[in-house]
Amino acid sequence: MTEWKSTAEVAIVGGGIMGTSTAYHLARRGCTDVVILERDLLAQASTGLSAGGIRQQFSHPANIRLSQEAVRVFERFEEEFGVNIEFRQVGYLFLAQTEEVWQEFLTNVQIQRQYHVPVEVLTPEEIKYRWPYLNVSDLKGGTFCPEDGYADPYMAAMGFAQAARRLGVRIEERTEVIGIRTEGGRVRGVETTRGPIAAPVVVNVAGAWGAQVAQMVGIDLPVLPYRRQVFMTKPFDPIPKPVPMILDMEPSFYFRGEGPGVLMGMSDKDEPPSFNTNVDWSFLERVIEKAVHRAPILEEAEILRGWAGLYDVTPDDNPIIGALPGVEGFFCAIGFSGHGFQQGPTVGRIMAELILDGHTDFDLSPFAHDRFEKGVAKGETRVV
Ligand SMILES: Cc1cc2nc3c(=O)[nH]c(=O)nc-3n(C[C@H](O)[C@H](O)[C@H](O)COP(=O)(O)OP(=O)(O)OC[C@H]3O[C@@H](n4cnc5c(N)ncnc54)[C@H](O)[C@@H]3O)c2cc1C
Repeated sequence: MTEWKSTAEVAIVGGGIMGTSTAYHLARRGCTDVVILERDLLAQASTGLSAGGIRQQFSHPANIRLSQEAVRVFERFEEEFGVNIEFRQVGYLFLAQTEEVWQEFLTNVQIQRQYHVPVEVLTPEEIKYRWPYLNVSDLKGGTFCPEDGYADPYMAAMGFAQAARRLGVRIEERTEVIGIRTEGGRVRGVETTRGPIAAPVVVNVAGAWGAQVAQMVGIDLPVLPYRRQVFMTKPFDPIPKPVPMILDMEPSFYFRGEGPGVLMGMSDKDEPPSFNTNVDWSFLERVIEKAVHRAPILEEAEILRGWAGLYDVTPDDNPIIGALPGVEGFFCAIGFSGHGFQQGPTVGRIMAELILDGHTDFDLSPFAHDRFEKGVAKGETRVV
């Protein structure tokens, strides 16, 4: 905590990857009178609980471009920020079991290649040759991008936060925003549990709580919280490292190497929205069933621990990014479902441009807040 200052040019609500990256990009461009307001500690919510996956294999061009730019940032992160985020470019392997999903993969590959993503199309035999521990008997095929991989999301957020702080950004942890003041159709500042801050710009990067923050200015946004669970095994040698991020698309199951062990997760698409982040140990049985089906050797692995975090999900699994009309000075970047960590570096850059220049070169129309009511939402099909 720093000495309390009751004014700022920009007040950022939320200290995850979106908040820290936005603050850094603002400060880098000379806008240093910025405060990050974080209810808890930095990067303890979705960002710190994320699986850290970074991929360019999306179906939607806008998501491909967001991640593509971020990969370049992650590649030189240590150089720029002096923080080792352990970026491992071990690849992402997507697996398709049904003809329908396989055809969708092939369509996606065409789109990805238009953007020069170095994606390979693999037969089940080729997959078995490269990763002999995989059961490929039920597969139509897979796609693999060797530039994809994973990194430490907590360290990435801390890298942005430290760099922002060095440039003059204030970071107020254990400070909850409990209201947003507006007057004459524009933002005037925030109310927090430690006092008010007058600010002409307020940025809502509150992740799974983003809809609640938007309601503070009377705007309803369709963003709901969904629990997602991750499990880690004890050190497990039988699978040769490195293990890429391997995704079984139909059951939404994934696993990858993590240090000496294996990290695995799965989405329970039937679970209703909630803020519940308790681990449901009965769900682990279903995860293990999928794990052992895809990599039978995992039957011998022992689970070390599990945790749960929240996805912030819109009806089309794409985020809402931009200024919101009717409340001048109010900006949002929420609803990133399962791919917000990797998009944080690019979104921070875009947010800084929107705030400082009033526009950005990135086409944000797929992320417009009103795309649902207009019926033009074309979402991401590759969500895990
Ligand atoms: C299990 C799991 C696995 C994932 N795997 C991946 C992955 O492999 N790759 C990937 O790219 N993404 C992944 N994600 C998604 C990714 O973690 C999120 O999209 C991303 O972290 C969102 O960042 P954020 O900054 O928007 O949100 P958060 O990190 O949640 O930050 C929002 C912050 O706002 C704070 N806040 C909320 N309300 C207030 C308030 N009123 N006042 C002050 N502060 C407030 C919260 O405390 C929180 O710290 C995963 C998520 C989960 C849960």
